[in-house]
Amino acid sequence: MAEEMIPLNLQDLMKFDCNSENECFNECCRDLNQALTPYDVLRLKQCLGMSSQDFLRTYTALHYGPKSGLPVIEFKPNPGMGYACPLVTPQGCSVYKDRPASCRMYPLARAISRSRKTGEITQYFALIEEPHCKGFGRQNGQTVEEWLKGQNVDKHNQANDKLMEVISLKNRIMPGKLEGMSADNFYLALYDLDAFREQIFENALLKDFNLPDAILETIRKDDEALLDLGIKWIKNRLFGIEIT
Ligand code: SF4
Ligand code: SF4
Repeated sequence: MAEEMIPLNLQDLMKFDCNSENECFNECCRDLNQALTPYDVLRLKQCLGMSSQDFLRTYTALHYGPKSGLPVIEFKPNPGMGYACPLVTPQGCSVYKDRPASCRMYPLARAISRSRKTGEITQYFALIEEPHCKGFGRQNGQTVEEWLKGQNVDKHNQANDKLMEVISLKNRIMPGKLEGMSADNFYLALYDLDAFREQIFENALLKDFNLPDAILETIRKDDEALLDLGIKWIKNRLFGIEIT
């Protein structure tokens, strides 16, 4: 599909408007090839009131990157419905308040670079103009910054930036294919959070780390804190970085 990338700054006007009156309504939820991040999975399984295992089994497909060996989780598209997202309805997204970061951002793409010295993150944005999307050229008067605020995407971006840090560390320190237990642990701790919790509390997975009781009590109920710990655990397992 032909597409055009238009670089933008935070203060630039979007020249784009999406609403349910557009003839392309829901077209962006078809013909999917959409990877989900750990935080996307966390929010979606909470929204649907499902365990991570049930959500992943029902709505997603897993494969491993052929070169990186990293798990890639994608929506399982519905072939009988134009390969549509399994969560789209004629009225729109059924999980709108917890939709993934890429759905919030579309048609805006975001990339980041992180200073190795200070850890400071610089963001870059571009509009991806695709033929099926008819929202382009319509003026809604919003800057990129205002659009992002309206999409309520900050928490997703912050969580996803932590994943990007792990991936860039892996590319730097362990280039090549992640195999066996390392790939399994990556999937367990970042995507299958309820199974990770079960391993911690029922099989003493983290017993060697002597985690304080306060942290254990928090992660018993708090998925976001558990995901943060999962990222730290993976950094420890793969790169030897101490869990603090
Ligand atoms: S999660 Fe919602 S917005 Fe995203 S592709 Fe599915 S239906 Fe569309
Ligand atoms: S295709 Fe574009 S304009 Fe149409 S509903 Fe999706 S994002 Fe909005």
